[in-house]
Amino acid sequence: MSITGNTWRNWSGSVHCTPQRLAAPTSTAEVAQVLAEAVRDGLTVRPVGSGHSFTPLCATDGVQLRLDGMSRLLGHTPDGRVRVHAGMSLRTLNRELDRLGLALPNLGDVDPQTVAGAIGTGTHGTGDRLHGIAKAVVGVQLVTASGDVVEVDEKHPWFGAVRVSLGALGIVTEVTLQCVPAFLLHAREEPMPLPEVLERLPELVGGNDHCEFYWFPHTEKALLKRNNRVPEGTEPAPIGRLRGLVDDELLSNGAFEVLNRVAHARPSLVPRINAFSGSALSAREFVAPSHEVFVSRRRVRFHESEFAMPRAALPEVIAALQRWFATSGEHVSFPIEVRFTAADDVWLSTAHERESCYVAVHTYHRQDPASYFAAAQEVFVAHDGRPHWGKRHTLDAAYLSRAYARFDDVLAIRDEADPHRLLTNDHLTQVLGD
Ligand SMILES: Cc1cc2nc3c(=O)[nH]c(=O)nc-3n(C[C@H](O)[C@H](O)[C@H](O)COP(=O)(O)OP(=O)(O)OC[C@H]3O[C@@H](n4cnc5c(N)ncnc54)[C@H](O)[C@@H]3O)c2cc1C
Repeated sequence: MSITGNTWRNWSGSVHCTPQRLAAPTSTAEVAQVLAEAVRDGLTVRPVGSGHSFTPLCATDGVQLRLDGMSRLLGHTPDGRVRVHAGMSLRTLNRELDRLGLALPNLGDVDPQTVAGAIGTGTHGTGDRLHGIAKAVVGVQLVTASGDVVEVDEKHPWFGAVRVSLGALGIVTEVTLQCVPAFLLHAREEPMPLPEVLERLPELVGGNDHCEFYWFPHTEKALLKRNNRVPEGTEPAPIGRLRGLVDDELLSNGAFEVLNRVAHARPSLVPRINAFSGSALSAREFVAPSHEVFVSRRRVRFHESEFAMPRAALPEVIAALQRWFATSGEHVSFPIEVRFTAADDVWLSTAHERESCYVAVHTYHRQDPASYFAAAQEVFVAHDGRPHWGKRHTLDAAYLSRAYARFDDVLAIRDEADPHRLLTNDHLTQVLGD
């Protein structure tokens, strides 16, 4: 995310806007005041976290509301419940939890997101028996459009809706999370041929706490990652600095940037570059605190689209993407990421009442993703795909209302919490309706 002059840009650089006003309240009362002033001046308001969403959820020509000044730990209880300001980043949260001997049960693969942004879009990692971050939420303090401060706990009728709420129901100011005792993970990463990954999928996903794989398009090469909790008393065994650097640079950073620049200039080299990347990564194992294993640095900018689908759809989804790579003439240098979560009860969670597999497609930020993402979306939609709220798609409320059993219940709460649509923009109108 960056601000140049008055122009705001998201992380990938694909969304920009020029808000008329920036507001950085430092208390819940000030948030209510910002909303009242926006109503008075006839402006709409969009809350923004760290701008890591690829969709235009945060774009506004009205008031951009940031909670950078609300990023403190507010309290914790002996049963592992932690209350934090909604503007705290996951990176700070992980450090604070570490200090308390706690951790989130699961995380995605980066940590600059704010707590509100991460839960608001259904940010998730991978884990057969685990869930997205919003599932750890047990309480939310929300300031509605009228300036009312509402405490939503597990018994509140809005609880199903406020966890993944796209910033459409109110400004989230404080969040209570149910954490678990801090734990170490044994990480095992190794190349494996794609057909073998697919054949062994039930065993790989069911037999590991966190399993995911990257598939290199135009090849049958994959990188499999398995992370498992270790027995109490196990000592950390960090990865060698040099080794860590080589692999992280290749998959995510400096060397990967160079490969993508070459691929962008000479697309016909992509299959060979992908085959090289898939072979250059070799097996490695290490033991480290959970958040250090989950989170990596991503310095190469990209565009991303990701859909959740029923697990059984995965082989056919991969086969359809393979057919598209073989016939479209397009070259894609970024690996496709596949993850898994258990079903949950969060109304707008992409895993709502459905065990899911997630398939994420990416392109280098200088490459126009339109035709690739359109083709992938067609495949995902054919398998009842639900788009990640923070990642690119072109679907609308008519489709999404069929994808989510509780969609109309969320809309009813939106009518109650924001009847005059203070918290809106064109993208929210597209995905939730007027
Ligand atoms: C490099 C990279 C890696 C990523 N990895 C993953 C991953 O592993 N798994 C995954 O699921 N996603 C991933 N994402 C997507 C990302 O986690 C989500 O888009 C997330 O919402 C970003 O958080 P943010 O703080 O940047 O929120 P923003 O993008 O700034 O905002 C997201 C939403 O939250 C709302 N919001 C923000 N603050 C508030 C508030 N205080 N009250 C109410 N609403 C609010 C906004 O209005 C918006 O609707 C990744 C994105 C990037 C760029």
